[in-house]
Amino acid sequence: MTRPSVMDLRGSFPLDALLHLEGYCAVPTCMAREVTIYVKNYDGDPIPDLKCPLCGATLARPHVLTSTEYVAREKRQARTSVNVQMYVRDHTEPGGLVIYPASAMRREDLPPTPPGWWEKQP
Ligand SMILES: [Zn+2]
Repeated sequence: MTRPSVMDLRGSFPLDALLHLEGYCAVPTCMAREVTIYVKNYDGDPIPDLKCPLCGATLARPHVLTSTEYVAREKRQARTSVNVQMYVRDHTEPGGLVIYPASAMRREDLPPTPPGWWEKQP
């Protein structure tokens, strides 16, 4: 059985030629876990199976994001990180156990900017 290429997983070649290829090395003795490779693929050449740069094993769970998708994901993760940090700050006593609900992790909107925020000096 032939393994699908990363591009097969995507279904069709994306319009954005700057790609972020990601996979996971499942070899227990390998130090690598997640592997990200940034590529430019202006000609739409087929992308071979992803290999771990440390042990050479084929990476599991390969997937590809366009540069636009990658940036959107990074921004969404940054927003959820801020929301979790705000929840913990507002609901945790100093030295207390840090617990936050899943809803804090799922919240993707940004809180409103407090009045005078941009005039404050850090
Ligand atoms: Zn590996």
